[in-house]
Amino acid sequence: MHVMSVTGPVDASDLGVVLPHEHVFADLVREYRGTGLLNDEHLARQELALLREAGGQTLVDLTLDEIGRDPAALRRVSEDSGITIIMGCGHYRDPYLNSEWFDQHAVDEIADLIVADIDEGVNGTGIKAGIIGEIGSDKWYISAAEERSFRAAARAHLRTGLTISTHAARWPVGLDQVRLLAEEGVDPRRVIVGHADTVPIPDYHISLARLGCYVCFDSIGTGTDYDLSRAVDYVVGMARAGFSRQVLLSHDVFLRGHLKADGGPGYGYLLSGFLPLLTDAGLAAEEVRGFVTTNPQQALTGVAAASKA
Ligand SMILES: [Zn+2]
Repeated sequence: MHVMSVTGPVDASDLGVVLPHEHVFADLVREYRGTGLLNDEHLARQELALLREAGGQTLVDLTLDEIGRDPAALRRVSEDSGITIIMGCGHYRDPYLNSEWFDQHAVDEIADLIVADIDEGVNGTGIKAGIIGEIGSDKWYISAAEERSFRAAARAHLRTGLTISTHAARWPVGLDQVRLLAEEGVDPRRVIVGHADTVPIPDYHISLARLGCYVCFDSIGTGTDYDLSRAVDYVVGMARAGFSRQVLLSHDVFLRGHLKADGGPGYGYLLSGFLPLLTDAGLAAEEVRGFVTTNPQQALTGVAAASKA
């Protein structure tokens, strides 16, 4: 079983420790002035080296064209750092979506373009996407353009088998995302709902897990110490409810301030700082290890998809 990286296919057994929701390059300046630009390759190499030092092997970069996807730069920093990078495809969220373009393109036309990114490569580079996402909804509901984007992502998934990863930062939109994708025929076990920890409602996390999708707690280390203690509670809650196999963890680095060089967690904090908090909270070391190895490996490949533990 292979997963497509920016340097070519990688055997699933070689993925190692995986961060499933990150950004190496991103331009979110329209929302985050001053800190919303990740465009420095030298700095990216330095930060990826820290992931390697912490024991990480693979990073999923979910930056899409609306926020500056750069396949060639991803390939360069992957080759230099030795970190396997899996690139996303599809469309981000409002207000970044070009609503006029979505009005003018049918769902199947949008799906064709996503499939081209997967089968032929992105924007003429020949560098292929290995995951669909992050497909987003900005608010607590799915807008008209976003619905078209989700349906196109679903159809691209059915044609290519790639996993779909979402942006769901507002309660309870993750549930609606999974239901919409399922309406298009997507097995929820092939869906990763992102940003679960931005919604401080453990029952919501459990409700997502009951639908069968992966639940991604991906703001690890970018908030306060209190946020970290809450994230520990959320993960322990999932484990206690029997949903360990559906837990995914990441930092969602997307601002300069998230990088280690700027005082943030960088890409290494989860492994060096957060996982020990989970074992301190009583989870078994093997279970915790699975959150960053077998769980994301299975989420990417769909093999031995999530099931209630
Ligand atoms: Zn993201």
